[in-house]
Amino acid sequence: MPAAIPSDGHGPDILVAGGGLAALCAAIAARRTGASVWLVDAAPDTLRGGNARHGRNLRVAHDGPTAHVPDRYAVTELEADLRRADPGADPQLLHRLAMDSRDVPRWLAAQGVAFQPHAAGALPYSRRTVFLLGGGTAMVNALARTARRLGVRVLHETTVEEVAPGGHAVLRAREGRAEVCARAIVACTGGFQANRPWLRDAFGCAADGFVNRGTPYATGRVLRALLDRGAAPVGHATHAHLVAVDARAPADDGGIVTRADGMAWGLVLDRDGRPVRDATHETGSARYSGWGRRVAACPGGLAHVILDNAGVARLGRRVYAPRTMADTDTLAQTLGVDPARLAATLAREGPAGGPPWHVLSIRPGITFTGLGVRVDPDGRVLDRCGAPVPGLFAAGMIMAPAVLGGRYLSGTALTVCAVFGRRAGEAAARHAHA
Ligand SMILES: Cc1cc2nc3c(=O)[nH]c(=O)nc-3n(C[C@H](O)[C@H](O)[C@H](O)COP(=O)(O)OP(=O)(O)OC[C@H]3O[C@@H](n4cnc5c(N)ncnc54)[C@H](O)[C@@H]3O)c2cc1C
Repeated sequence: MPAAIPSDGHGPDILVAGGGLAALCAAIAARRTGASVWLVDAAPDTLRGGNARHGRNLRVAHDGPTAHVPDRYAVTELEADLRRADPGADPQLLHRLAMDSRDVPRWLAAQGVAFQPHAAGALPYSRRTVFLLGGGTAMVNALARTARRLGVRVLHETTVEEVAPGGHAVLRAREGRAEVCARAIVACTGGFQANRPWLRDAFGCAADGFVNRGTPYATGRVLRALLDRGAAPVGHATHAHLVAVDARAPADDGGIVTRADGMAWGLVLDRDGRPVRDATHETGSARYSGWGRRVAACPGGLAHVILDNAGVARLGRRVYAPRTMADTDTLAQTLGVDPARLAATLAREGPAGGPPWHVLSIRPGITFTGLGVRVDPDGRVLDRCGAPVPGLFAAGMIMAPAVLGGRYLSGTALTVCAVFGRRAGEAAARHAHA
């Protein structure tokens, strides 16, 4: 049963909108200062944690090896990597992100989060990221337990419909609607990747083929309310982080197992049987987002990866296994393309080792959208003149486009949530106590 909206007429010091990593960090940080805190999440308790449930690693700077990360990754190196990935990033936020990332593992561990020992050998070598023991679900469960133990009032299945300067909010739950006045609001409601009409406005018909990899509750309602209330926008609605996912993935919340691979070892054809080429030949983790953009540009947002036996052997075991076709005619029939043209394309482009052919159909999967609100390093929401909007703070993907607007570096999204969630929670509490 969701907890009812408290009706004693008293709002909290801090109302945290959202229930993902940014919200949990903001709520815990604010509560640890002694502020009274509500965490208001549209999702049910069973889907708590937003997209962090699907995450596995965080990018952090460190001056030497620790139990959880080998070698060294200096603040200056992380900062340079981030700047290279997005030359337009807000320099102040970027510097803060790199500096504060050093303390993220220690702080999260102090809130009950466990990390994978790097020497255990279960994970790929990475000197830039720490891996979560038990994955993102274990992390959000630990943080939710800590928040409740500290006395954060958690309201699930409760939507923040409106936010306004001065800490005013309108909440809606099953039992009705309530106006609440907090001393400050921290907006941590993520992007709008689950909002189909908004995606269609931004991306046109291509959006109809998008799969939302994460929470179906990321509707962008609070983002829209903040922008309507004069918050300065950052990034753009037509930007998003996309990866190629299996076309059989559910419309929402399929998570990491839906991510497709094998494009480099076979031939990729669009819906009409035309080859789709990768001029970048990227082999690192950036290949996933490269293919996300490429398939989004295909007619109908659909493409097919054709592999021979050697290609499918490299792919390894997958949750979504490729479909196998005994001959080229069956392949043509399945794809709905002309058999003679397909045979000519296969002969011209390879792969040479089939039939049999193995097929993975792919679509663009959206991780997060690229429109947000501008904040200062304490998460204070800024208006179009650069002045703080009284009582309004924001953290997580709702402000991340200011620092992650270009090429995405793996592990940075969760670090943004942890760093700015904590900072915004502490700053909101200072504001409330002032
Ligand atoms: C499959 C997948 C794998 C990923 N892996 C990684 C990884 O390994 N490393 C990494 O750094 N990043 C990863 N990411 C990205 C990262 O998980 C997200 O960017 C990050 O968790 C976003 O956190 P957030 O708190 O800003 O928002 P979200 O997680 O989007 O949470 C938004 C929250 O707000 C709530 N909400 C929305 N609207 C309202 C409203 N109006 N009222 C009340 N509540 C509302 C939602 O229920 C949800 O709880 C991954 C993402 C996906 C989808």
